[in-house]
Amino acid sequence: MSSKDWLEKDFYAVLGVAKTATADEIKRAYRKLARELHPDHNPGNREAEERFKSVSEAYAVLSDDNQRREYDEMRSLFEAGAFRRGARGGTAPGGGASFDDIFGGQAGDQRFGGAGFSDLFSTIFSGGGAAPGGARRGPARGRDVETDVILEFRDAVKGTTKPVTVRSPGVCDTCHGNGARPGTRPRTCPNCGGNGFVSRAQGAFSFSEPCRDCQGVGTIVDEKCPECHGTGGVTKTRTLNVRIPAGVADGQRIRLAGRGEPGDRGGSAGDLYVLARVRPDPIFGRSGDDLTLTVPIAYWEAAFGVDLRVPTLDAPVTLRVPAGTPSGRTLRVRGKGVARKDGRVGDLLVTVEIEVPKDLTADARAALENYAHFAPRPARHHLDAHLHEPSDGGVHYG
Ligand SMILES: [Zn+2]
Ligand SMILES: [Zn+2]
Repeated sequence: MSSKDWLEKDFYAVLGVAKTATADEIKRAYRKLARELHPDHNPGNREAEERFKSVSEAYAVLSDDNQRREYDEMRSLFEAGAFRRGARGGTAPGGGASFDDIFGGQAGDQRFGGAGFSDLFSTIFSGGGAAPGGARRGPARGRDVETDVILEFRDAVKGTTKPVTVRSPGVCDTCHGNGARPGTRPRTCPNCGGNGFVSRAQGAFSFSEPCRDCQGVGTIVDEKCPECHGTGGVTKTRTLNVRIPAGVADGQRIRLAGRGEPGDRGGSAGDLYVLARVRPDPIFGRSGDDLTLTVPIAYWEAAFGVDLRVPTLDAPVTLRVPAGTPSGRTLRVRGKGVARKDGRVGDLLVTVEIEVPKDLTADARAALENYAHFAPRPARHHLDAHLHEPSDGGVHYG
């Protein structure tokens, strides 16, 4: 049995148990079938013999916790179609490039959860031509690619066009993916005869495992390509001009359909996701489609009312603050926020904050004392009633 058979065989079905079966259930199912199908009870019955082998093979994997976990992981990925691009190894002579080419090292690890698993993965896939049957199903869609772009606050509000750099794995142009120095060729691995797997006998059965001499690739590169150091894969950089729509927020992902990696054998291209990182603005903030702005005003401006000149992302506007405006009130300048393509427009929200002077000139102090003499204090009667109630006796430190 080779590792790639794992992808094609349903060991649970062979033993007639559910995928969620416990170790005991698996053991019972195996023992029952093994008794029924044992060659001693079925002399000359080829079918029973084959089934007996299949049942033993399935039990060997499912009775071993580690193997069962790996098998489950592989099967679920296989069913999800993740292995389909494996066939691409066939286009890279010798197949040396297939794993890097398809999954791109780190990105592959993140995507399929764990370096341990990617090791397993690379072992299977570096077989190139030995890709599993599932890999030959129809054209495969290209991989989605993610990149990010840093935007100035104003560009995010107004929309802009930005060049973004996309890095994705590709086949080395120098060696066309075979990993060998130009003018040389990879040679067939003498240990495995080029198929990447070697057989190992264990009891009545023969198992196959990846060839150690060629790490399952099937070929050996004597002189490595100087460009890709023998891996056959390189990181390719593309620059695309991306239209950023008005109103993009920090952390938002912009999807560009069909701008990811090209598909395999005529498959459609993947999508490009551009993660927007918006730099804060020194004066404006954002609240959805509204822009926010805080403006300090003097007490007397709030008392008398004032016409404030306030900046917007376009020309400045004049905003009337009515007499008697309390500190913290927010005034709305209509239509000066984010203008969406569909016609929705946000506002500019101006919050006025009364600034209390810390240092007063002698004249200002005299004027303020004169004012205090005439001005009423804020009414605090509504608090007085509560201040007469008995104290709890404690001292509170916030
Ligand atoms: Zn190369
Ligand atoms: Zn080999």
